[in-house]
Amino acid sequence: MNHLLQGLKRAGLRLTPQRVAICKVLAESKDHPTAMMIYHQLLPQFPTLSLATVYKTLNVLKSMGLVHTLGDAGDGAEHFDADLTPHINLVCTRCHRVVDFDEERIHEIQQAVAQRSGYEILGARIVYYGLCPECRANGSSKESA
Ligand SMILES: [Zn+2]
Repeated sequence: MNHLLQGLKRAGLRLTPQRVAICKVLAESKDHPTAMMIYHQLLPQFPTLSLATVYKTLNVLKSMGLVHTLGDAGDGAEHFDADLTPHINLVCTRCHRVVDFDEERIHEIQQAVAQRSGYEILGARIVYYGLCPECRANGSSKESA
């Protein structure tokens, strides 16, 4: 999470305990939290934390390319991902869960794209939408959320 903290410093933000905690949640979380999820997770520890602080911190990290947003998962909220290595995000449009899926060939594709385009690839966002196994088991796939 140190690169996140350094990013905030470079952006001219003070490293308050709250901002450090937000970076920690982002770096350690595997469930692609929204601003609201981070806010509720930290509130017991920081009762004075405001949602605006969470949003501002996330937006600074996003503008510096240190976190990616996955767009919404059918729940109208932006989900954040601090894992910038190429991987697939699987989004369940019913329960709005977002999970990582490692697929070795993604690395090959990224290399091929870099070579043929001349780009230095800094990150990737690959999102597959669908119904997770639990939601599939709990009803017909035609039913909407
Ligand atoms: Zn689901």
